[in-house]
Amino acid sequence: MAGTFTFHVVSPEGNVLKEEIEFVVLPGVDGDLGILPNHAPMIAALDTGVVHYTVNGNKKKLAISGGFVEVSENKATVLADTAEFAESIDVQRALEAKARAEKRLLQKAHDTDMKRAEYALRRAITRLNAADGKND
Ligand code: ATP
Repeated sequence: MAGTFTFHVVSPEGNVLKEEIEFVVLPGVDGDLGILPNHAPMIAALDTGVVHYTVNGNKKKLAISGGFVEVSENKATVLADTAEFAESIDVQRALEAKARAEKRLLQKAHDTDMKRAEYALRRAITRLNAADGKND
């Protein structure tokens, strides 16, 4: 095995995850960021998206909605605005949030904050993608 590194995810609600993992792909604002053990030190901004990581050969997913990652000394620390494990996502809630955001975007009412609705739609779609059983 090529080794492991510490993957730590923190959200405003506290520690989400801290474990030794083999590989992670994060949704960077400029594209996906793949991190393996002994990665060079780095700080990068993260987008709303699905985090894919491998622990003991098992692939897992987390939904995050923006934040930062810092990599140093064989540790990757993600500070996320929100973070949910695929298994803990409430699919019905995400479907309802998606429908609300889509309705706002379609209605284009003068008092609608379009950016806010777009971000809400992206969070909902990300959560649905993470909750999806497929490990793409
Ligand atoms: P909603 O309109 O359903 O609240 P939202 O995108 O506005 O969705 P956020 O502000 O991103 O929600 O998140 C608020 C809190 O609720 C965070 O702690 C987040 O992890 C959690 N959360 C939001 N949606 C879900 C979901 N579908 N399943 C599980 N946790 C969720």
